[in-house]
Amino acid sequence: MASHPDSSLAEPIPLPRRQDLRADLVWRCADCGYQRQAPERPERCPACSAGTERLEGKTSIEWRLLMRRRPAV
Ligand SMILES: [Zn+2]
Repeated sequence: MASHPDSSLAEPIPLPRRQDLRADLVWRCADCGYQRQAPERPERCPACSAGTERLEGKTSIEWRLLMRRRPAV
């Protein structure tokens, strides 16, 4: 396929380096929606005390992509 340097197609999303990804981890509680930025997995949700297994860790970029994929409410 031809590639055009001046293509106005959507730019690829720049991915941070691995160490930056780690520093950028955001933990989200599946129970109450609490979000916290932390490099390490929290032991429990500080808002509703849900166990650590209820916390989902993603980078803020990943969360942003997830939110973007969702239909606007
Ligand atoms: Zn919670």
